[in-house]
Amino acid sequence: MRRNCFAMGLCLCVLGAAITSHGAEPVAARQEAAFQLPADKRPAGWTVLKAGDLGAIFDRQGDGLQLVSLFDLAKHRQLLAAKSPALFTVTMRQTESKEEVSLRADAGWERIQVAPAPKPGTPVELSWQTPKDKRLKGLRVTVLGSLDEAAGALRWKLSVDHVEQPWSVRHVVFPQVAVDASSPQFEFFYPKGPGQVKRAPWPPQFSYGGMYPQGWISMQFMAASDKQHGTGLYYAMHDPQGSSKEVHVDWQQASQAMSLAFDVPAENMDVAGNGYVSPGESVWQVLHGDWFDAALIYRAWVRQNAAWFPKLTSEGRADTPLWMRELPLWAQSWGDGKKVVPELKAFAKTMAVPVGTHWYGWHNNPFDNDYPHYFPASEGFGDAVRELQANGVYIMPYINGRLWDTHDKGKEDFQFSSVARPAATKDEAGKPYIETYGSKESDGSPVQLAVMCPSTQLWQTKVRQTVLRLMNEYGTKAVYIDQVAAAAPVLCFDHAHGHPTGGGHWWTGSYNEMLAAIRREKPADRMVTTECNAEPYVKSFDGYLTWHWCCDDQVPAFPAVYGGAIQMLGRAYRGGPTPELALRMKAGQQFVFGEQIGWFDPSVIHNPQSADFLRQVVGVRWQLRRAFYAGEMARPPKLQGRIPTVRADWQWDNPGWVTTDAVMTGAWTLPREHHSMLLFVNVSDQPVTARVQIDAAAYGAEGPQVRIVTVKATGQGESSVSPSKIERELLFPARSAFAWELRQVDGKK
Ligand SMILES: [Zn+2]
Repeated sequence: MRRNCFAMGLCLCVLGAAITSHGAEPVAARQEAAFQLPADKRPAGWTVLKAGDLGAIFDRQGDGLQLVSLFDLAKHRQLLAAKSPALFTVTMRQTESKEEVSLRADAGWERIQVAPAPKPGTPVELSWQTPKDKRLKGLRVTVLGSLDEAAGALRWKLSVDHVEQPWSVRHVVFPQVAVDASSPQFEFFYPKGPGQVKRAPWPPQFSYGGMYPQGWISMQFMAASDKQHGTGLYYAMHDPQGSSKEVHVDWQQASQAMSLAFDVPAENMDVAGNGYVSPGESVWQVLHGDWFDAALIYRAWVRQNAAWFPKLTSEGRADTPLWMRELPLWAQSWGDGKKVVPELKAFAKTMAVPVGTHWYGWHNNPFDNDYPHYFPASEGFGDAVRELQANGVYIMPYINGRLWDTHDKGKEDFQFSSVARPAATKDEAGKPYIETYGSKESDGSPVQLAVMCPSTQLWQTKVRQTVLRLMNEYGTKAVYIDQVAAAAPVLCFDHAHGHPTGGGHWWTGSYNEMLAAIRREKPADRMVTTECNAEPYVKSFDGYLTWHWCCDDQVPAFPAVYGGAIQMLGRAYRGGPTPELALRMKAGQQFVFGEQIGWFDPSVIHNPQSADFLRQVVGVRWQLRRAFYAGEMARPPKLQGRIPTVRADWQWDNPGWVTTDAVMTGAWTLPREHHSMLLFVNVSDQPVTARVQIDAAAYGAEGPQVRIVTVKATGQGESSVSPSKIERELLFPARSAFAWELRQVDGKK
């Protein structure tokens, strides 16, 4: 028996044999008591870790070690479900026979050691040595745990050493936990698109996951909250390079448990003797709050550590041209200049603000066909660009950043085999990864598009040349490079490419290298955007097309983390049975989420009711534009009273019914300037009256009083001074948007 207890609440104790469970409540009580007991009074076999408000107990059970408790010591709540999966699963492969073997934390080891931290502030070390499977005899799994007293967090790193040939590490699931989800007020945040929060009523089964980074898994954190007891768990991977990793979330009604896991494909996963070190740290942290509090934890880490976080000035992104930081509105154009020019000029005139347009079909090749051969542009394209940009319309043509058509000249294999194939991503059998979308060759067969490897000079050069040619030869102010922040990394096994095969951070690193060269060479007043919002490319782009933010249960977690670091634009505005309400809901949500509004078919101006609403939203955004690019998101204010909801088919799925509050709220703040904007938009057909209760101090306005200035599309309106604890009944007229500027009353602002 060894014992080592530290000051500062860091405590780790190791005893001998196993114990058994006796039902949830007595076990929880016994576990909570164990955190207070001296080490020699604790149940045998328990390893007790304490980091501020977070406690964890590991139990030595037979030939494994199992997490049996995660405890919120401040709220006296067990966070772990009655049954939690093995802390890790390491999948090994015999590289010759391809046989796979799984090593689990909870069984199958000759030797398990728990080494206390040698001094406060250093990590504890858990190690699993000598698997019972004799073929893997020297292998060792080491888990280092750092205890963060102030945050109430445990931070983990895992490594696999002594991997001997012919074995390789394929992938590592770590750390797996199942959170107790039995509370009737259990909520779960996950990073789908902008972020979504799932609440009761729960379906019988709920799952979420896939390969990060991609548009549907945009960030590396999740949050479970039990609103009834005010407790919860922040569960994250703080990986500063954005390595490829799968997220697995699974909820089962029967077990009332939410299982969470990161599953990381190993670097050089097909190379015998590769070994493994987890990318970054896995974090468990007590969460006394909701999705917004979780986003703030992640934001603090991102700003300090993430390789993709850009340099920000007091005016936001200095490397993004001001016109793009300010832009309030986007259109979407299809076709040649003859069609596009008049409709966009009319759109810009009606909306009376600067406009960007995302131009598809500017080239002669059909969409998703014969990529990457875009030139020559359709006739008159250059003239159209010049004319529109002289009239306050910024042109952003479409190109694809990821695909090469395997029949890239009609049905002919023009350059795929002779030029592109060596630079295409390959599976383990050496075959290019091929994707098909809706596009068809002239014989009706699907266009077969190869996924190009971003690490290759060929692909980096091709994309760079295409972007620069559009900017330099045609003068476009922007280029949209499709799919980069939408599609998940591909596990490329082409050894000739020189990157680690399979997993790692080479995929995100390669795209960032490609974009860094584009940013260096492009004129300073131009900008680039891409599809969706996978975070590891934020510094490489000026804007993200958030067109897929079209689901129910959305919350603005991505804007909370990245507002000011990248501009967001574009929702999929579609038809269906409720197009006008759906338009107002989407535009209203974009407004409070801090996005640039759009993108619209320019014909939207011919619907007077929609156009009037858009002019309000876009107009208020234009008044407040600096807050969005130089500021950051603050907690959206919550209205008191019964707020009606609205429901429309957003047409993402078919059908895609989405319900939101009729009155949406948001907040953006310039913290250094003690100056915030509260945004309100009633997207419904009915006026709504609600009570606003806001503490202006929470929005940076210090002192007993605050000045409130109402901002409408037409400019600043009434101004009044209020006690800083604001309490007012407000009327939100139907189909209206306005904002409050909160300013500190001290003569400075
Ligand atoms: Zn490759």
